Amino acid sequence: MTATVERIESWLVDVPTIRPHKLSMTTMGCQTLVIVRITRSDGVCGIGEATTIGGLSYGVESPEAISSALTHYLTPLLKGQPADNLNALTARMNSAIKGNTFAKSAIETALLDAQGKALGLPVSALLGGALQTSLPVLWTLASGDTAKDIAEGEKLLAERRHQAFKLKIGARELATDLRHTRAIVEALGDRASIRVDVNQAWDAATGAKGCRELAAMGVDLIEQPVSAQDNAALVRLSQQIETAILADEAVATAYDGYQLAQQGFTGACALKIAKAGGPNSVLALARVAQAAGIGLYGGTMLEGTVGPLLLCMPGRHCRCSGEPRCSARCYSKTISSAYR
Ligand SMILES: [Mg+2]
Repeated sequence: MTATVERIESWLVDVPTIRPHKLSMTTMGCQTLVIVRITRSDGVCGIGEATTIGGLSYGVESPEAISSALTHYLTPLLKGQPADNLNALTARMNSAIKGNTFAKSAIETALLDAQGKALGLPVSALLGGALQTSLPVLWTLASGDTAKDIAEGEKLLAERRHQAFKLKIGARELATDLRHTRAIVEALGDRASIRVDVNQAWDAATGAKGCRELAAMGVDLIEQPVSAQDNAALVRLSQQIETAILADEAVATAYDGYQLAQQGFTGACALKIAKAGGPNSVLALARVAQAAGIGLYGGTMLEGTVGPLLLCMPGRHCRCSGEPRCSARCYSKTISSAYR
């Protein structure tokens, strides 16, 4: 007999970060995880996670809104439905509920986890099979203090834990951010790849100037330098700047990826499972991007332990941006064709 969805529970879990995590739009000292447990009628349980960064300062879903959508909308919709047909359940969710990709992602993840446990298979097998078993993980240097960031990078290099670092910039004046970045490139750049994430902070003119200077100083990747609303500027930068431009906030779903490709974007897309609406949904985006010749890059939302583990799924052209507390440090292999 087919197992059905019997119970969906969720919890908000506040976890302090190991240090203040400075983004262009907010500084995080605590992360709120939304942990979901689905219990099927056969007694099998699956665990999912929906975690967003910085409350509503980053995206449109807050932890409280995710929890409410799970309790009041998704649970009544899914309860009693066959639990082993993910495509049918995803279609049911998308037909009845617009957006809310983080809440849907937690459900999809928990359903896959339960199905894997029921069949004795890893989630990768349910999604068609893993192309590789490890990926490289970068570390985010986001204290905002140049000397502290350099010391943290030196320590991680000495421990042979990471060889790529991402700086969070955009909250300060351009000249200050450029000075900060240049100092870190000069200190670590001969032994590590340095990337920056601007988190949409620059307008088009600042983006053009900032990206030119970052490329000239040897930064390897520039993430979302301009607003997610301004795809025209993002596309121009991807075509004009030698360093790869990464679309993050500008691309969540396969449709977003298609639009960017159609507009001539030549950079890379940040794959984030929660942003896309779940493991299946992020694979749809990955396939659109790959068909268009756009590179892929795996990113996290500062999740706990559940979310990052699924990041292995999208395929072999993938880099994971491990953030503080990211537990998935097992990835180690670099596929350099992800970037031009
Ligand atoms: Mg980003």
